[in-house]
Amino acid sequence: MGRYLDSSCKLCRREGMKLMLKGIRCETGKCPIEKRQKNVAPGMHGWRRGRGSDYGIRLREKQKVKRYYGLGETQFMRYIEKAEHTIGNTGEVLLGMLERRLDNVVYKLNFAPSRKSARQLIAHGHIRVNGRKVDIADFSVRIGDKITIKTSEKSKKRIRTQLDTNPNYSAQGWLQLDIKGPSATIVAMPSRQDVQLPIEEQLVIEFCSR
Ligand code: SF4
Repeated sequence: MGRYLDSSCKLCRREGMKLMLKGIRCETGKCPIEKRQKNVAPGMHGWRRGRGSDYGIRLREKQKVKRYYGLGETQFMRYIEKAEHTIGNTGEVLLGMLERRLDNVVYKLNFAPSRKSARQLIAHGHIRVNGRKVDIADFSVRIGDKITIKTSEKSKKRIRTQLDTNPNYSAQGWLQLDIKGPSATIVAMPSRQDVQLPIEEQLVIEFCSR
């Protein structure tokens, strides 16, 4: 799978919104989206960003979702295919499946500053699901799953340091976080309101069903 190695901020500038790809930096004034003169699409003609065609609008919605969750095109299309074969509103089913990815859950529990960092944490074997090591970032969590940390002091220290950056952090209602562990339990399925990305998922489905 090809990897995107260019600046993450360029992706946000292209979409004209904060995709929160860089952790702490995204919350500070250093974020280019916060600066009026830098909040333009990348490239020589970035400032000319217009409304775009129907096709363009749908394409941008799809790219926002894909980039927010850090997925490649093939991986994203696999989710679309799966969502289309699941009962329910396809757009909401798609977002629900993406929310339940283990890298997203680890990020939303504040065990990692960004989804990219959460993926690294998982790939390096620091995360356990129901007591078993899971090193696959796209592992889909279910109700009742318990997320814990590898028992090594190094793993716990790394996650405690991250949790200390925001001691008042409270995870979304579908995640029950126990800071002392640290550990967490999945207590419900994520709802549409839990997806903090302001997008129109119907346009994504329309784009992918052409
Ligand atoms: Fe860069 Fe984060 Fe701002 Fe996006 S939200 S532009 S990744 S600092």
